[in-house]
Amino acid sequence: MLLSIQDLAVRNFHFDATGLVVDVAPTWSIPRCGECGAKCRSGHDSRSRRWRHHDLAGMTLRLRYRIRRAYCGA
Ligand SMILES: [Zn+2]
Repeated sequence: MLLSIQDLAVRNFHFDATGLVVDVAPTWSIPRCGECGAKCRSGHDSRSRRWRHHDLAGMTLRLRYRIRRAYCGA
């Protein structure tokens, strides 16, 4: 996991049965091609991923991140 937390903004959070879930989103707005890294405007899909971050005051804190994937078509 090489994502930098500085590139993420907290959008929302809620509690579920296991702890705190924080929705985060990238601070950048232009998706990048998953193949070559070029900036793209279309052809992306997204899926959410969540991972356990660390425990906060005895609760499980997880980040939920909507992955954006894009392909420039090259
Ligand atoms: Zn590309």
